[in-house]
Amino acid sequence: MTFPTLFRGGQLFDGDRFLEADCLRTDAGGKIVEIGATLEPKPGEEVVELEGKWLLPGLVDCHVHFREPGLERKEGYAFGSAGALHGGVTTVGEIQNNPPLMDSVAELTQKLSKLRGVSRVDYMPYGSLVEPALPELPGIDRHCAAVKCFLGCSTGAGGVDDAATMRRWFQAAAEAGIKVVAHCEDNHIMASADAKYGNDPELASRHDLRRPVEAEVQSVQDAIAVAEEVGLALHVFHISTYAAARLVIEAAKRGLPVTGSTAPHYLLIEAEEAHRRGQNRFKVNPSIKYAEDRAGLLQLVASGALPVVGTDHAPHPLEEKNRPYAKAPSGFPSVDLLLPLMVAAADMAEVSPEAFLHAVTKGPAEEFGLGKKGRLAVGADADLVIADAQAKRVVEESTLPSRSKWSPYQGRELRAFPERVYLRGSLVFADSRVQGEPLGEPLFA
Ligand SMILES: [Zn+2]
Repeated sequence: MTFPTLFRGGQLFDGDRFLEADCLRTDAGGKIVEIGATLEPKPGEEVVELEGKWLLPGLVDCHVHFREPGLERKEGYAFGSAGALHGGVTTVGEIQNNPPLMDSVAELTQKLSKLRGVSRVDYMPYGSLVEPALPELPGIDRHCAAVKCFLGCSTGAGGVDDAATMRRWFQAAAEAGIKVVAHCEDNHIMASADAKYGNDPELASRHDLRRPVEAEVQSVQDAIAVAEEVGLALHVFHISTYAAARLVIEAAKRGLPVTGSTAPHYLLIEAEEAHRRGQNRFKVNPSIKYAEDRAGLLQLVASGALPVVGTDHAPHPLEEKNRPYAKAPSGFPSVDLLLPLMVAAADMAEVSPEAFLHAVTKGPAEEFGLGKKGRLAVGADADLVIADAQAKRVVEESTLPSRSKWSPYQGRELRAFPERVYLRGSLVFADSRVQGEPLGEPLFA
């Protein structure tokens, strides 16, 4: 249920900065209608006293894998979206990387409609840029914000590793006017690393050596070159190296429609620590890199040069992660902790959190054309998060709502866990659990 509500006495973050105003009013239609200082309640209006806590726009995670349809045993939207709310996320950009890929308008529209009544957050699946999708690209922008391309194999789901194919696919997307979001790692460089380290008893399980810095840098360089040649809008997902992030930023400075994002683990963790953490918990593609990469990426997010962060939430059962290195799948859950992780990254950079909050609110909303999301503004959706910035808690994985019930951040002390979350004016998360029926709506039809 949605009631006209006055939130008052809080620290309001509008998607760019904390405001002087401490009150926000929403209407029965689930929109923000007024922001101001010391607003007084109107007759019939509910009042939520914020008592100095943060009031943030619902977070936008532009990169999750919920594995529905096809692999619900690993997550599914019912669990995945509950986890999202736990992390303060009310909108997800979701990538299908298990069959059936989103390689046709029919697949996309079916998925968009089937998730009504299942998802607890608003959702926008990306299309899949694979061979069968090429004839479907003209007009596909009515059904998704972008199409996903794997450069370098990550999951076995439709990767491309030869330059001619990449050029043909990028050309087709450019002609259709649809943005490409890409996973960039060079297969040939990774194959050389496999040959070098694959049988080394000490180093074979060093994921940072098997998927090295150069693999990402080379792939990003190639992708930008081809994007420039064919006139493509390109977004490089989950950048793990400082060098690749700088390539993206330099391309944008040259006026190209090239953007990028990183992920919380590249801001918080380094290769040694990732390697030490057992059970392959931090095994992820791209691999987690080094101190200079982490510091460089933190600085780029803090300065606003890299204004988007997405989790790459990719759950697997812990028993699968716990296999020997070579057989363990890559990826881990993290949408369920997104707000506290971003605050931790800001703390690590020793800066106030605005730029880090921007990177999971207005930053991704602007990147993917979501004008009503990721901001506190009159007319925007009343997607809201209340969090006590000072309240600390140790991550206890058994309490997380995601299906896999584990976290690589187990035991880490974090702050600013969401206390209450509203989706278009309805209270959907409180007292550490989801509230009511799933109300998530598709952002495309
Ligand atoms: Zn991913």
